[in-house]
Amino acid sequence: KSKKLLELQKNIEGSVVSYPRSMPIAIKQAKGSIIEDVDGNQFIDFFGGCGVLNVGHGNEYVLEYVKEQQRKLIHALDFPTENKLALIQKILNKLPEHIQDDYKVTFGGPTGSDAVEAAIKLAKIKTGRDGIIAFSGGYHGMTSGALAVTSDTFFRNNLTSLMPNVHFAPYNYPYRNESNSYDQLNAIDYFKNMFTNGHSGILKPAAIIVEPIQGEGGNIIPEDGYLEELVRVAHENDVLVIFDEIQCGFFRTGSFLEFMNTKAIPDIITFSKGFGGIGFPISGLIYKKEIEAWGAAAHIGTFRGNQVSIAAARGAFDFIEEYNIEEYTKSIGVYLVEKLKELQTENPFIGEVRGRGMMIGVEFVKDRTTKEPFPEFIKKFRYECFQRGLLFEVGGHYNNVLRLVPPLITTHAIVDAAMEIMIASIKVCMN
Ligand code: PMP
Repeated sequence: KSKKLLELQKNIEGSVVSYPRSMPIAIKQAKGSIIEDVDGNQFIDFFGGCGVLNVGHGNEYVLEYVKEQQRKLIHALDFPTENKLALIQKILNKLPEHIQDDYKVTFGGPTGSDAVEAAIKLAKIKTGRDGIIAFSGGYHGMTSGALAVTSDTFFRNNLTSLMPNVHFAPYNYPYRNESNSYDQLNAIDYFKNMFTNGHSGILKPAAIIVEPIQGEGGNIIPEDGYLEELVRVAHENDVLVIFDEIQCGFFRTGSFLEFMNTKAIPDIITFSKGFGGIGFPISGLIYKKEIEAWGAAAHIGTFRGNQVSIAAARGAFDFIEEYNIEEYTKSIGVYLVEKLKELQTENPFIGEVRGRGMMIGVEFVKDRTTKEPFPEFIKKFRYECFQRGLLFEVGGHYNNVLRLVPPLITTHAIVDAAMEIMIASIKVCMN
C-alpha cells in the first residue's frame, strides 16, 4: 500500500517532496513516539516530525484543548482573544524572572520561515541597516529572506539574489573547531574586525541570526560562553542579535528556550515547531520592548495567530508543567546519550556523540583522528535502521550526522528498542 501511495505521490504531487525519499512510507496514524504506516508496520519516531512533536503524536491532553477551541473559535485574524493573550502571558512568564517585563510577543504566521522573515524585518526597520550575519551550517527556512540566511547552497541553487548583504561566519563547532580564528576566545576579534574594519568589506549589519544549538547543521552545541561573547560584541557595536530557537526551543533541551541555559540575552527570539503542541502550525517572535519598531500593519498575515494552534500551544505548556517534562527530558536525554556512547565504544566510525536534552547528534567519520566525514556509512545505516523500524533525520555540515529529535515523552523502553535496532543495523553496515 505504501508503494502504491508513494507512486501516486510521485505522479501528482510536486517533486519537491523530501522526507519520503529517505523514509519511503505512507503514514496512516501515529501516537506518542510511534508511527504506523498504511501496511501496519510500526516505526519508532526519532525524527519527531523534524523536531515538532515534543509532547508526542496525538497527545490526548493537548487534544482536549484543541477540541474545545475548535468548537469555540478557529480563525480570528489578529483580534485579541483570551486564548491568545493567555498564551502570550504564559510565554512571558516562562522567561527568566528578571527579564520577563522586557519582552513582547508577536505571531509570525504558520511556519518557522514566517517568524524568521518577521525577525529580519524588525531588525532592519529598527536599525535602518539591511545587512545580516548568519552562520555556516545554519538553517532558517525556505522563504526568500529565511533562505538567504540559510547557508547550504544546495537549497539556493540558481537563486542568486534573494536578499542583499548577507554574510556567513563559521559556526562555533567544538568537535571540528573549523576555524582557529573563531574559537571562543577570539570571537570578539572576529566580529569586531567584521563590524569596525572598513577593509572587512562588510557594512555594519542590522543583526546576527544564530541558532543557539544548530539543528539541521548537525545538532551542534557551541562552546560554553560563546553565545555570551557573540551577544556582547554585537551589542558593543550596536548590532541586534536574533536567536533562532525554532528547533532548539520549546523544551527540546529540557529548558523552555535554549538561551536560558546560557547567560546570553538576545534581542529577538524566533519560535515555531514544538510550540504547535502536536503539529499545529504556529510561529512568532519574542522581542525586547526597547526595539519595538513595527508600524501598524508592518507584519500582517491572514493566518497569524490561529486560535486552534494557540490552544494546542497552551495545552502543550500545561502538559509539560503538569508532568514535569522539563526534568524528564533532561534525564531521558542523558540516558539516550549514554547508550549512544556505549555504541561509540564498539564502533570506530562514530566520532562524536553530543546532546542536550532530546536534541542529540551522532557524527560519523572515516577515521577518528582525521575526522574525515563518512556520509556514505550513515546513508547505509539509516536505511538499515529504517528497515528495522526506526526513523531519524540525517544532517550536518557534511551530511554525516544522525540527528535525533524524538518526542520528549519517549519512554526508556522505546529508547532501548531503538538502541537494539541501531546495534543490529550497525553490525550489518560493518560487514
Ligand atoms: N529555523 C530553524 C532553526 C529550523 O530548524 C527550521 C526548520 N527546520 C526553520 C527555521 C524553518 O521552519 P519552517 O520549516 O517551519 O519554515
